[in-house]
Amino acid sequence: MNSSLSNIYFDTNKYWKKELQNSIKTLEELIDFLGKERIKKSPYSYILEESYKKNFQKIHQNFRFQVTKYYISLANLYNQNCPILLQILPNIKEIEDPVFKEKDPLREEIHSPIPELVHRYPDRVLWYLSHNCAVYCRFCMRKRKVSHPSTISIKQNLFSIIEYIKNNKNIKEVILSGGDPLSLEDKFIEEILFHLKRIEHLYSIRIHTRMPVTLPYRITEELCNILEKYYPVTVVTHFNHPIELTDIVYEKIKFLKKSGVLVLNQSVLLKNINDNASILEELFLKLIKFGIKPYYLHHCDEVYGTSHFRVSLQKGIEIIRQLQGRNPGIALPKYVVDLPDGGGKIPIVPNILKNMIHQIRNIYVIIMLIIKYIN
Ligand SMILES: *Cc1c(COP(=O)(O)O)cnc(C)c1O
Ligand code: SF4
Repeated sequence: MNSSLSNIYFDTNKYWKKELQNSIKTLEELIDFLGKERIKKSPYSYILEESYKKNFQKIHQNFRFQVTKYYISLANLYNQNCPILLQILPNIKEIEDPVFKEKDPLREEIHSPIPELVHRYPDRVLWYLSHNCAVYCRFCMRKRKVSHPSTISIKQNLFSIIEYIKNNKNIKEVILSGGDPLSLEDKFIEEILFHLKRIEHLYSIRIHTRMPVTLPYRITEELCNILEKYYPVTVVTHFNHPIELTDIVYEKIKFLKKSGVLVLNQSVLLKNINDNASILEELFLKLIKFGIKPYYLHHCDEVYGTSHFRVSLQKGIEIIRQLQGRNPGIALPKYVVDLPDGGGKIPIVPNILKNMIHQIRNIYVIIMLIIKYIN
């Protein structure tokens, strides 16, 4: 084992917690970290203005600001569309959204039989385990509750949620989500997995987390041991741009996979961040190279405070059309739209007509082969 690998294997719970404590939580800390003089010469000089400072405070009260030093280190101040900065910098449109008016357009709260448990599809439940994340993404579709300063009492909810799942034999899968479920201590994660694994009618346990992207040190040996103990577990990560796939991520994903974890990725299609075919081509190819299967590309949900990230459906379809035939099938996720009012996710398939012509041609070839065979 080389030395960089052994560091990764031996980093401990202490390390990621410290990194989380040391993360940047105020505008002043952000300016200090990036350097005032450098910011002045960059396209982001507006963040030094008094008016931005005022707005920042207002936005922060609604949906907190936080970024790890690891993640902000990937930023490039001199790129006016820096994919890292655009994902984390508060924007006044978050609290003055000119287009989207609803905080919960997918009606998750209505579909929650127990607080923090969304049961929208008969066969799956989504368990909202934590308000906290290492980095608060400004486009978050659950920003109505994510980053809330209170903590959720897992102990209190655990019993009723486990009972609910036990009593609903239709439920085949539990998705641990949030916020970020990996912001919880290992012992809670282990306790939850322990109870879920004893439910006979469950086929699948998934963990939805952005930690591999924003705080890869969270993937510790201890955590991997737990995931291995409760094999099989699926981890669904959230990479949006190829720049997020770093060397440390590569090692951590390898470590997860060695523990028997299936690793998938969902991305969100975001304006000026990844809304073009060549960026997504590179993202999906690089994910495969890292051992991660691109699962979904989400069309941005119509959540209040996120319309400045919106890409039109037409543009999304055009990008997917360009990607078909450019990337191997394994490096092409499903492009999905979550219907408002809790209608659920539907995949968008461009070129249905072209596919039909393809099918007809296939049938023609098969008939020709049969004729040839008969002769
Ligand atoms: C997306 C989602 C799921 C999981 O859907 P899949 O298509 O199986 O990935 C489950 N519950 C809720 C509420 C969701 O939003
Ligand atoms: S990590 Fe996920 S839940 Fe947390 S802020 Fe980002 S998108 Fe929202």
